[in-house]
Amino acid sequence: MEKLAIFGGKPVRTEKISYGRQWIDESDIAAVADCLRGPYLTGGPTINKLEDKLCEITTAKHTVAVSNGTAALHIACMALGIKEGDEVIVSAITFAASANCALYCGATPVFADIKPDTYNVDPEDIKRKITKKTKAVVAVDYTGQAVELDEIKKICKENGLFLIEDAAHSIGTKYKGKPVGSLADITTFSFHPVKTVTAGEGGACLTNDEGLYKKLRLLRAHGITRDIDEMVNKSDAGWYNEQVMLGYNYRMTDFQAALLLSQLEKLEKFSERRKEIAEKYDRAFGDMPELILQKTIKESDTTRHLYVLRLNPDKLSCDRREFFDALVAEGIVPQVHYLPVYRHSYYEKLGYKKGLCPEAEDLYEHILSIPFYPLLSEEEINDTITAVKKVVACYRR
Ligand SMILES: *Cc1c(COP(=O)(O)O)cnc(C)c1O
Repeated sequence: MEKLAIFGGKPVRTEKISYGRQWIDESDIAAVADCLRGPYLTGGPTINKLEDKLCEITTAKHTVAVSNGTAALHIACMALGIKEGDEVIVSAITFAASANCALYCGATPVFADIKPDTYNVDPEDIKRKITKKTKAVVAVDYTGQAVELDEIKKICKENGLFLIEDAAHSIGTKYKGKPVGSLADITTFSFHPVKTVTAGEGGACLTNDEGLYKKLRLLRAHGITRDIDEMVNKSDAGWYNEQVMLGYNYRMTDFQAALLLSQLEKLEKFSERRKEIAEKYDRAFGDMPELILQKTIKESDTTRHLYVLRLNPDKLSCDRREFFDALVAEGIVPQVHYLPVYRHSYYEKLGYKKGLCPEAEDLYEHILSIPFYPLLSEEEINDTITAVKKVVACYRR
């Protein structure tokens, strides 16, 4: 058998590739340059154009573009009135920001476990975690698959809870034929470079509720308004603006919006390519008993963000760490998405204990995300498949 690079064999690739990266082309660069030559770098018309475009793509009534996905989650919680003493139920397997937004507001994140096959939050566990203090649910479309929105919305409705859909992974995904973005009280996007479309840094809140929209706009920019109807005191003159609540500076710049608008032109192309690569990987790994693939949710027409392999400990003699290191040595640099949020030392200091969400903890022990982005060449995809199979063959029980 061929020796793994980690034991002195020849690596599959010498030029390493990682789990995600952006795809910027000349039209993106031209769009940004164009904006930079114009009069507005921030607070200008490109932001409005971007917000209109996001509404068009998602069919949401309102969009508020912000500086990043974390800011979007923060002002989403604030707009919903989440405060000290409240509890917010959050998927355990997610990026820390999905829970940090509750902490920013003085509220307590309560973690709900995942389903062992789809890895999305389990609606039954959301039900179990509801108390008198629960105010909202942050449901994460993990790897781009829409959460079970009908079930979760029903639970929210029956218990008077708000739903924030953290759709950082899922722009372009449809749930029962409807685009993600228009389906929760507030949906948040991230446009970080590893996400499906990028603004460098960027985010957005989408909602169909006019009142929430107005609050989100205020919160994005210091809580200051120019709208006479929103003012408490009488306007002095044309120059008058008034701070009516405590907000932040979470604005996106116009040149970031220009980049994102240009990227959104290619959303469908990116989406198709992501589906194509996912199918290739599914075919390559689908019948290998050593690897477990994420179950697809049939209601979700998914623009996949991450491709997650789960190692089957009964069929492999290595642990995830050894598998990870062997892949890196072969030139394929995976990542792990995610440590259950409450296992971060900061959360442990707050008092969260191991054992809270057993399915999430078990998933974390066995997963890795392999290179998955539309710019991958056929050669890179094939090298990834070859490397994974080589490592599996060396550690097969
Ligand atoms: C990326 C991400 C965020 C945060 O977005 P930023 O734009 O990096 O602040 C939040 N939630 C999830 C699930 C993410 O993947």
